[in-house]
Amino acid sequence: MYNVAWVDNEKCIAQKGCRLCIMYCPEADTIMLDATTQKAIVIEPRCKGCDLCKVVCSTHNAITMFPVDPTTGKVIKGGEAGEAAALGQAYAG
Ligand code: SF4
Ligand code: SF4
Repeated sequence: MYNVAWVDNEKCIAQKGCRLCIMYCPEADTIMLDATTQKAIVIEPRCKGCDLCKVVCSTHNAITMFPVDPTTGKVIKGGEAGEAAALGQAYAG
């Protein structure tokens, strides 16, 4: 089981210029600005589930980690996220 990040458009303030998650994500082209919605969006197949975007978005709390079904590869929205990959935990301090 692994996790991917998901952005709540109601909470994300990217339209006001916030790019924190985009700047801090260690994976290239994984969390990006959606030109249409002006919100951050996660390219789920590229996300490593490291939690770092969630950590840097703690003020607005717009990012939730959801588990991915290892059999189907589908994101289980509303599912209980499993343990994060080590990188985000290291930054969480
Ligand atoms: S850090 Fe949070 S509020 Fe800022 S762009 Fe990313 S998801 Fe949106
Ligand atoms: S969980 Fe990690 S890899 Fe995935 S979008 Fe967030 S910072 Fe990037």
